[in-house]
Amino acid sequence: MKSSWMWLFACALACVMQPSGAAGNADYLLRPDRVWNGTDDVSHAGWAVLVRGGAIVAVGPANGIDAGGAQTIALPGTTLVPGLIDLHSHLFLHPYNETPWNDQVLKEPEAYRTLEAAQHARDTLLAGFTTLRDLGTEGAGYADVSVKRAIDEGMVPGPRLFVATRAIVATASYGPGPHGFRPDIDLPSGAQEASGVDAVLRAVREQAGHGADWIKVYADYRVGTDGSAEPTFTATELKALVEAAHLSGRPVAAHSATDAGMRMAVDAGVDTIEHGYGGSEATFKRMRERGVAYLPTLTAVESTEQYFNHYVQGSPPTPKMLEAEHAFRTARAAGVEIGCGSDVGVFRHGDNWREPAAMVRLGMTPVEALRACTSVAAKILRQQGHLGRIAPGLRADVVAFDGDPTTDIQALRHPAFVMKDGAVYRQPPSP
Ligand SMILES: [Zn+2]
Repeated sequence: MKSSWMWLFACALACVMQPSGAAGNADYLLRPDRVWNGTDDVSHAGWAVLVRGGAIVAVGPANGIDAGGAQTIALPGTTLVPGLIDLHSHLFLHPYNETPWNDQVLKEPEAYRTLEAAQHARDTLLAGFTTLRDLGTEGAGYADVSVKRAIDEGMVPGPRLFVATRAIVATASYGPGPHGFRPDIDLPSGAQEASGVDAVLRAVREQAGHGADWIKVYADYRVGTDGSAEPTFTATELKALVEAAHLSGRPVAAHSATDAGMRMAVDAGVDTIEHGYGGSEATFKRMRERGVAYLPTLTAVESTEQYFNHYVQGSPPTPKMLEAEHAFRTARAAGVEIGCGSDVGVFRHGDNWREPAAMVRLGMTPVEALRACTSVAAKILRQQGHLGRIAPGLRADVVAFDGDPTTDIQALRHPAFVMKDGAVYRQPPSP
């Protein structure tokens, strides 16, 4: 499926691995054709970026930068941009057309899934995504905390991770089953189940204590009598969950596909809404008023429609895709802050570029979509002082693509250079 010798071969041709993934100590002058800094309306020809000790120290016209003894890395034909950020990933999942979600959760041991996650992390980083908010291990417990640690310690290459650990669901309101399975067997759950204020408080505190950076809650799920999505937690439970998370300094991400679930989550004080396909104009306006960000996960819908509903890329969108597109346009018109969150894991890790490409297809300019994956995403992550822009003082997470993604978003399919924290993970072959 994903063989490491293939990767090693590719690496011999096109990339360099830092022996230690810790912050790079060398100084580099990066010389692409153009630089886009994460906020401007255009990329700048002839600019360069100086990196020292893992941080960006200068950006601007190359002839105005005193590089000292820095090693120059020439990146001809490329545009350098801030390392990309995907705010909705699942490193512990792989495409459902390879293995259905139920089978991943029920048949793949946690140790195996953890090794898969490490490989997914590497694929993600080499694609130019240097930061992920990973929204739940889907039945693999707290293994995301260990993957994050292994990446931070340089054991395996991967993006910076902000993890949600197990995620929190209302009792019997998430898969596998219980509907469709024998009622007399206890199945492992894809998330931590809770009912009642005391239980949701305990779940938040357990997950926070075990290493969650964010708390993820499912505000609705397919619990209706006909399988339709309906709210799960009561307003009281949701408010208690958000209060406990916020007291501990952790923001809350709410999965919600229905307008009613979104409304309850927003009123409870969550920080981001995931999916939001059924969101009404009034609810998106309320999100804007309350500063709740939106992660549209357009690529997840397209992928599941491909796998399960005979959708073929390029053909007219299915009703489910039209609903997601309508939500995206409504949110945009309402002025909601929209970040890049793809739900990758439903589709192939490393194909995260499909989400900004979908955003452009639905009306964003390439620069808007790139902001959603850089400066806007960093703000949603509360990391705007460290990540998401190319500016002095920020961490040296910078990536280059062949061509110019600020004018053609498809350039994101061709990563040429990846640096995270000043360490080089991918670079073009030397001439
Ligand atoms: Zn998800």
